[in-house]
This record gives sequence, C-alpha cells and structure tokens, in this order.
Amino acid sequence: MDSMKAVVKTGPRLGAELLDKPVPKPEPDWVLVKVRATSICGTDVHIYKWDPWSAQRIGAKALPQILGHEVAGEVVEVGAHCKRIKVGDYISAETHIYDPGDLTSMLGSFHVGMNMKILGVDFDGCFAEYFALPESICWPNDPSIPPWVAAIQEPLGNAAYAVLGEDADVAGKTMVITGDGPISLFAVGVARACGVARIIHLGKYDFNMEIGRRMGADLQLNTNQTTPKERLEFVMDHTGGNGVDIALEMVGSQNSIDDCFAMVRKAGRVTAFGIAAESPLPIDYNNGIVFKGCQIHGINGRKIFDTWYRNRNLLANGRLDPTPVITNLFPLAEFATGFDKMIERPRKSAKVVLFPDKEEYDAAVKQMGKT
Ligand code: ZN
Repeated sequence: MDSMKAVVKTGPRLGAELLDKPVPKPEPDWVLVKVRATSICGTDVHIYKWDPWSAQRIGAKALPQILGHEVAGEVVEVGAHCKRIKVGDYISAETHIYDPGDLTSMLGSFHVGMNMKILGVDFDGCFAEYFALPESICWPNDPSIPPWVAAIQEPLGNAAYAVLGEDADVAGKTMVITGDGPISLFAVGVARACGVARIIHLGKYDFNMEIGRRMGADLQLNTNQTTPKERLEFVMDHTGGNGVDIALEMVGSQNSIDDCFAMVRKAGRVTAFGIAAESPLPIDYNNGIVFKGCQIHGINGRKIFDTWYRNRNLLANGRLDPTPVITNLFPLAEFATGFDKMIERPRKSAKVVLFPDKEEYDAAVKQMGKT
C-alpha cells in the first residue's frame, strides 16, 4: 500500500479532484488510519467553494491539500511514541489539535486553545483511503456504533455542547433551536435525549423541518411564513408568557439572532453558534441582555472530550438515533454529487457520508435503506 485515492483541493477555485496520492507516513506520535466512513461538513463546503473565508484561512499557498475531517476508521499503523492507541482500534477524530501547553488548554478549555490546528484545514484531511492524525485527538468508538454514525460524532459534539452548555442543566427546561442544517437537527435530537421538556424548532426548508420533527421537535415554526412578532407570540403562548429557558442560535442571520434574544426568558441562556455573514451586527443590548440578565455562551468546537464521552454513551445505549439526519450515502469517488447535495437550495439533504471502500458503502446502503 503505497498510493491511495484522495479528494484533493488543487487550486483556488470551485471544486476538488480525485487523485492518486502517497499513503502518509505517521510521525512518531501520530497514527495512520484506514478510513471506513467520512462525512461532509459545512467547513468542507467553504473550502470546496473556495469562498473568502477559506482563501484567507487556508490560502492558495497551502494547496494542494486533502479535504475532510469527520471520520471513522481503523488504525493500521502507530508511530513509535504512541502509547494509548493500538493497531486495530476503531476510532473517530476530534478535529481540533490543541496545544496542551497553552494557558487556555491548561485551564480546561482545550476546544478554544490558542495554538489550535485543525484536521483538513491546517493539514491533509480524511477524504481519502488513509489519513494520519496525532494520537492525542483519537477517540475510541464503541464497536456497536456503525461507521456512518461514528463519522458524524464530530458535528454531533458541536450540537451536544450547544445544547448542554457548560453546566448541562437542561433537563425539564424549554428550548428554542433555530436553523435546519445538520447541526441544528442533531441539536434537536440531543435536546430530546437529554430531557429538554419542550423543543421549539425554527426553520424554513420543508424537507429538513420534517427531519427536525423526526428528531424530536415538539413544535415548529417556518420562519419564511411567519413574522418576528408572530414567532415571539407563539413562543410566549407555549411557555406561559415567560419565554424559553434556553435559545440556541444556529443560523447566524440577523432575524435568527433577534428571535433568540427576544424569545429567551429573563435569566435564561442564549447560545451563539451560527456564524454571522457580517460582523459586528446590532443586538438589542439593553432589553435583550442587560435587563434580561441573560447569559450568552459562544460555541467554537466541542468540549473536549466531555461531549465525545456523552455522545458515545447516548449512541451506544440507543438513547439517541441520529440517522434521520444522515440523508445521503455515496462512494468517495462520487464526492462531487455529495457536495452538490450540500450546496443545493432549497435544502433537500442534511448530512452526506462518503465511503472509500465499495463494500463498506454497499453494507451501509443495505443497513440504512437509502443511498
Ligand atoms: Zn465538521
């Protein structure tokens, strides 16, 4: 095994190419993984399109680079200094490579560490038959979790962190979740699994709203068919006139941000996850924050490794079924169709999973009953 197929970003323009690349050699504290399943993230879509963010964040000089960071696979080689991970381990990857020596990490906030490097952004990713990663970010999967589910644990971790916040005090509470992208839909499922009593889901695409229903939304509002005032009245009517305990902002639009600060009750929590197209942007600072006494929690990444641990338990024990959000499966060679699905508007897909190995793909299609 010297060469492998990989999806490579070759130049500063739309698209990527399937190329033959050498199989990477792991560094002494890295491992080599045979990819069983890998899923397309919004970040990959940014890089695929080569939008201003990726041009600035990655830069044309770093190309060619292999895309991808959401993954499940089998360890086939370990570097000489690896201690914890062994050949044969079934793992997924925390994609934020933290520097354990920086202050933020030392204080426990590894996910926002200062010298952060990101798999598939700062170096070659996992849209390939093999990829290499540091042992420190390998997460052992429960063998009962199939690869197409294990691969999506990375965004599921974003959802878990957004829902649970720092104190995980959500049981019996009410929650608004905005947006109908994959992470909003995962958040609905996590909220349901963790005992949120009433989940009000705001979205605009019928196909994805239906997935939100299947993931456990109690009430839904289509933001294209309602005014901000109607939405606020609806939420007040369903929360005894108080507003929700927790509002998850997962869109990044002015409307969605305004909804969240209006709908959260006094002394509640607003979680900021959506990335605004334009920043800074106006917020009703006095009424939305100061006089409300609300908390604002910014989400960048996942709480390492707390969210991994909780999600593994939820998945392995059948408490959370994220499969309605996994809408499409493709062989890796058909990655471009997968990206088209992700880019298509109105949305008719959520999570797209790719398989380098044809047998693995066939098995997944059979078990999932979808392609
Ligand atoms: Zn991701």
